[in-house]
Amino acid sequence: MSENCSGNCSSCQSKGSCTDEKRETRLDKIPHKIMVLSGKGGVGKSTVAACLAVALARQGQKVALLDVDFHGPSQPTLFGVAGKHLDGCEEGILPLEVFGIRLVSIGLLLENSDDAVILRGPAKIGLLNQLFDEVVWGDDLDYVILDFPPGTGDEALSACQSIKGDKSAIIVTTPQEVSLADCRKCIDFCKKLQLPVLGIVENMSCYVCPDCHKRHALFSSGGGESLSRQSGLPLLASVPLDPEFLAACDAGRLHQGLVSSFAVYPEMEKLADTILEKNA
Ligand code: ADP
Repeated sequence: MSENCSGNCSSCQSKGSCTDEKRETRLDKIPHKIMVLSGKGGVGKSTVAACLAVALARQGQKVALLDVDFHGPSQPTLFGVAGKHLDGCEEGILPLEVFGIRLVSIGLLLENSDDAVILRGPAKIGLLNQLFDEVVWGDDLDYVILDFPPGTGDEALSACQSIKGDKSAIIVTTPQEVSLADCRKCIDFCKKLQLPVLGIVENMSCYVCPDCHKRHALFSSGGGESLSRQSGLPLLASVPLDPEFLAACDAGRLHQGLVSSFAVYPEMEKLADTILEKNA
């Protein structure tokens, strides 16, 4: 182990000895890495990550989606591939191709999709580093969207620190104060790690009635806007809670919920457009 090594570098965790803590992983080589974070679970972080990946892919980008939410890997369910497994080849782990996206999820490594991931912190960090280094993404990708564990714990910290190159974060919150308070912590976490934040996505900003299609405030309203004002970060999208979209997600057809007849669609398109403009 080198003198200044934190013990968390990819070499230590996955290879047993630290020889080069600055070594670039396969993930590092992907031009744009966008981490989707949230202060707490259940606010729609995975859904936003998946929608962003689909929206970018539809605009012609080559996109990967890496789901490292250890305790609730939702991507296989959202894309209807729960129960499938990742294959390996001589070079490493092969992603699953779903609707034009290269997907890798902790959930696709489990023997049974309902199994819990019971690992201690260092083992989780070791697994993260293995995924960062051993997935055979291909060398033509434009974006990788990372679906992170919620909160500002060990795994999020370690992952943010070990990813190199162009990286930025999007923070997802719902409009009520309990979520906004955790979101402020998340913003502070990014600041302390010098991780650029592209902005905030307010999810479930209102409820779309499936009968009359009118919008109603579900929680308090305006939370995303006031957080954006306080933090100086742009509000990238205000995504309504649409029960019809939820049904599509539950049925493993998230991509079919991202069409113009669904209320979430324009906001997710706007989010993808903003990112593409920024990187143009
Ligand atoms: P998190 O990753 O923050 O834990 P998820 O993305 O798994 O949250 O979302 C939790 C649940 O809410 C899922 O069933 C998802 O399909 C649903 N959901 C999230 N956002 C929306 C939305 N805008 N409209 C309808 N359902 C949504």
